[in-house]
Amino acid sequence: MVDATVDVIVVGAGLIGMLTARALQQHGARVLILERGKAGGESTWAGGGILSPLYPWRYPEAVNWLAHHGQKIYPQMAEEIFAESGVDPEYIRSGMLILDQHENDAADAWARHWQMQMEMLRGDALQMQEPALDPGVSSALWLPQIAQLRNPRLIKSLAGSLRQRKISCMENTEVMALEIESGEVRGVRTAQARYSAGNVVIAGGAWSAKIIQPYAKPPRIQPVKGQMILFRGEPGMLRSIILSQGRYLIPRRDGRILAGSTLEYTAFDKSVHDSALQDLRSAAVSLAPQLAGLAVENHWAGLRPGSEQGVPYICRHPEIKGLYINSGHFRNGVILGAASAQLMADLIGGITPAIDPAFYDFEAAH
Ligand SMILES: Cc1cc2nc3c(=O)[nH]c(=O)nc-3n(C[C@H](O)[C@H](O)[C@H](O)COP(=O)(O)OP(=O)(O)OC[C@H]3O[C@@H](n4cnc5c(N)ncnc54)[C@H](O)[C@@H]3O)c2cc1C
Repeated sequence: MVDATVDVIVVGAGLIGMLTARALQQHGARVLILERGKAGGESTWAGGGILSPLYPWRYPEAVNWLAHHGQKIYPQMAEEIFAESGVDPEYIRSGMLILDQHENDAADAWARHWQMQMEMLRGDALQMQEPALDPGVSSALWLPQIAQLRNPRLIKSLAGSLRQRKISCMENTEVMALEIESGEVRGVRTAQARYSAGNVVIAGGAWSAKIIQPYAKPPRIQPVKGQMILFRGEPGMLRSIILSQGRYLIPRRDGRILAGSTLEYTAFDKSVHDSALQDLRSAAVSLAPQLAGLAVENHWAGLRPGSEQGVPYICRHPEIKGLYINSGHFRNGVILGAASAQLMADLIGGITPAIDPAFYDFEAAH
């Protein structure tokens, strides 16, 4: 049995685990990540990478604080991980058009409070901004600052950054048990070995509650399936992210266009269904009619770590010393991830955080 000792073990190499490990290392900690499958291979790979909650005014302040900080952190972080890895995560400020019009007052109040640019575009101005948009759409809210990252590239870029920083990430290594003595975490066990650390961060996405359940009160995190499809288009065919009635389009630099996403409470089931494909396709075509002529190149599903109001747990477990949770980011793990990782690293490092940690405490309203 190997018995490797580090300061912090991070369980799960989704985006949250990888960002947390990187932030901890920046605070000087020795970190080991243990991942059951491939780094980023679950919800993180499946996601769209929009750097904003959809309809952010519908979310509590706790979510908006993390999003606000994330929007400030990502431009520089994207450059850093590109430089460290040689892989461009494709941070693009494509802006977002929101076609739904019945919440404009709430949207206005949100934009003023968080100092986000937002304007109503109509007629020609709207068509100039997005020539691919259905000409029948007469007006839309335009949020020019909203950016995106391309998830599969973000994963490669971040994995490269971790390697460059000599943060060890062991793939195909499932954590089978937590080692706890006298109310304190001592490390974890896998099928092959035992790893010691005085701090363990559970960043297991939709599986986080399962990992904690045998030892202590689990967080209220459950899997929420999202299906997505991918069109193969030409570069520049669509310019902006478009959102309408919960369905969205995301244009990538190479012309590919993602159309998402379903919201399904079907436990740990990642199957995809033709009915969802048809549904996503017809919603996409109704937003941008040109998509009718494009082939659907891929169709997949991921399991989001669903929490009550989308508020993640970023905290120490109240029953076990040294056991931390960074999980439950639901539909917004990419945009919330950077600030969440910073907060988690600050809490473990005993540093006063920039964001009030009480929002994300175990007993807070998740
Ligand atoms: C269709 C879809 C669209 C989305 N779009 C967006 C978007 O546009 N913007 C946005 O911000 N967010 C979006 N999200 C949400 C975002 O993708 C998630 O919130 C985020 O990826 C969660 O990251 P995570 O690291 O917590 O989870 P995951 O990526 O699921 O990672 C958890 C990891 O833990 C590992 N693990 C589990 N158990 C163990 C164990 N016992 N031992 C070791 N490892 C273990 C898993 O294998 C997995 O790799 C979307 C999600 C989906 C599904």
